[in-house]
Amino acid sequence: MSSTEIDKFIDNLEFNAKDKAVVRGAAERAEIIHSDEKRESGEPYFNHLFETVKILTSLGMGPKTLSAGFLHDSLENNKITREEIKNEFGEDILFLVDGVTKLSTLKYTGLKRHVESLRKFFMATSKDPRIIIIKLADRLHNMETLGHLPEAKQKRIALETMEIYAPLAHRLGIGKIKGRLEDLAFFYLDSANFKETREKLGKKAGENTERLDKILRSVKKALANEGITDIKTDYRVKHTYSLYKKLRKNDMDIDKIYDISSLRIIVKDTLTCYQVLGIIHSKWQPLPMKIKDYIAFPKPNGYRSLHTTVFTGDGGFVEIQIRTEEMHNEAEYGLASHISYKEGKSARSKNEDYKVEWLRKLAESQKDISRSDEFLKSLRNDFFDQRIFVFTPKGDVIELPAEASPLDFAYAIHSDIGDHTFAVKVNSKMVSLDSKLLSGDVVEIQTRKGSKPSRRWLEFAKTTFAKKKIRASLIRGYKNK
Ligand code: MN
Repeated sequence: MSSTEIDKFIDNLEFNAKDKAVVRGAAERAEIIHSDEKRESGEPYFNHLFETVKILTSLGMGPKTLSAGFLHDSLENNKITREEIKNEFGEDILFLVDGVTKLSTLKYTGLKRHVESLRKFFMATSKDPRIIIIKLADRLHNMETLGHLPEAKQKRIALETMEIYAPLAHRLGIGKIKGRLEDLAFFYLDSANFKETREKLGKKAGENTERLDKILRSVKKALANEGITDIKTDYRVKHTYSLYKKLRKNDMDIDKIYDISSLRIIVKDTLTCYQVLGIIHSKWQPLPMKIKDYIAFPKPNGYRSLHTTVFTGDGGFVEIQIRTEEMHNEAEYGLASHISYKEGKSARSKNEDYKVEWLRKLAESQKDISRSDEFLKSLRNDFFDQRIFVFTPKGDVIELPAEASPLDFAYAIHSDIGDHTFAVKVNSKMVSLDSKLLSGDVVEIQTRKGSKPSRRWLEFAKTTFAKKKIRASLIRGYKNK
């Protein structure tokens, strides 16, 4: 990486001189910190940081988030301390770097029952949406360079991406990242189906481009005739993985899929969306059951748009998506679109403000739609202040109430393990049975055959389940005497 390339990149950012200086400082510091590290590909480690920051920039993130992006792996190798980051870059940037670092305990090994807990752990640990966005950008670049890792590692990371990161990006409405993460993970998890889907898509897309151009021209003309000229248009081709999922539901027959590519029409306001829909329907026959009003009824992740599929007169169909600029940005950037611009503007960007505001936004966009979604429900109340997420040495996650003890953990794994708990290590250090676990702790229970619950354990245990088991075991003990 030449330093002129970084200089140029930073010069081009739409920040004031002071903010640019902060980002430049973080870039320079990161380059020094990681100067003797290489990635698996043999490239300098710094490239990964720079690429992560480029993704963050494409999401429109502000100077603090970009600086934290440069520094996101800096605490891992102990070449800079928290104190130093705080002194050099301020509390906000430290908060972000620290948050991203904490998320590195997250490790998904494929146990389905842990999926939801891991997603919650991710949210609980993040606290600030910018931390999630940095982590998603980091993951996206790691997925883009996954080819350099050994196969077993590729599979594990791809699975984690498919099960944890892509669904989170989806739930936070960041469509732009979700689709790319899924496609990359799909390639590593199921390359045969990936290739087959790509081939099918390739054939269709070839036929399509010319056709779409033609349709687009006549749509524009029809709209202009009605005085609607202030529009933007483009196409989108369906992502490989989402096409594959649809193919599976349709006998793998690509001719049954009507939205392989869609036309997008972006207009200035909601009223115009409906006008455009009307004009299109008066000119082209729509397919029944394919008209979707996601403006009146947004999707659970907040997605808004009008969709319709129309006969094009050449024997085919095309899906048309109609939306405002604001809806379009939300669909592509989701959560990021709500927060990105604020960082630059507000001098006193209190982390707390972000947290409250984005949770409120999420809750708002999702009310009434997804009552059954436990994940979203958990976002709405003070759930995260009351729950912790701890790990077994293998990386399985266990969800417990705040202030739970190692005994609660032991019983949550298995009552037999609980009953024979002898000693406990938290993060490789011995601790007492009455200590309090914290989110992210790795807990190892040592058992001994002769170990038995004592009455005092009832004081340490926090969960009803552990208490019940301890009582049962104490009663058995009395009977045996
Ligand atoms: Mn990284």
